[in-house]
Amino acid sequence: MLKLELIELADLIHPEDLVDEIIKQNPGIPLPIPIEDLARLAGITKIEPLSSEGFEGTLIANAEKSAGAIFYNSLRPRPRQRFTIGHELGHFLLPWHRQSTFNCTVEDIAGRSNLDWEKQANQFSAELLLPRFLVTHRLQKFGSPEMAHVQNLAQDFETSVEATARRLVELNDYPCAVVFSKDNVVRYTVKSKYFEEQLCVWKGDALPSKSPSRATNTDAEEWDEIYSYWWLKERRSSEMPESVYEQTLCQEIGYKVTLLTYE
Ligand SMILES: [Zn+2]
Repeated sequence: MLKLELIELADLIHPEDLVDEIIKQNPGIPLPIPIEDLARLAGITKIEPLSSEGFEGTLIANAEKSAGAIFYNSLRPRPRQRFTIGHELGHFLLPWHRQSTFNCTVEDIAGRSNLDWEKQANQFSAELLLPRFLVTHRLQKFGSPEMAHVQNLAQDFETSVEATARRLVELNDYPCAVVFSKDNVVRYTVKSKYFEEQLCVWKGDALPSKSPSRATNTDAEEWDEIYSYWWLKERRSSEMPESVYEQTLCQEIGYKVTLLTYE
């Protein structure tokens, strides 16, 4: 049975601490994380889909934040709807998010906002939908990273490939990085803490011309080996890896996810 001792959450101001406490209170939490049930236990009395253009997510709460309602864009895929609900629940539970109403745009929820509270709400949602204890446990069983792990986790946790790939890299014990691109132009990159090399591609750059990630169709299970200088900033050291291994998953309308690793 799910439970939420709200009093234990009251003093926690960091998204990861808040989520760690929620998971601690629910050691047998089922997957995918029952985000709506958790929201109801927190005091959200209404969670409703809305399908108006340009709308993404809204929280309307009372001044004490003891009760509230969440509305989310129902035209989005289910993993995105869940992320939006998690985001609004973050605004509801994070103590210094004091406004009683939050109207969140696509930019806010897609992580393109520079506002601290939007970033924190996104962090809360990512932590809650892909809890570090549960994901880390899986990653340790998986061993060295593969695109198949992203797809496997995304299916079990009902999260988007993008959010899951970010989490896989954040929590990985291997040197790995993910390059998110659209139409073969880099959108952003994320590296694991063991990825000590600098990437030589930045937001707005084309994918490296010799990289198989540029292909129109890629086999996400296939590893390609490429000279490291196509992806990594060269430095004068014999310790620099000679090769980088890459796997690319093609998504819809030109979006791609490329996983990089080296030995
Ligand atoms: Zn927001």
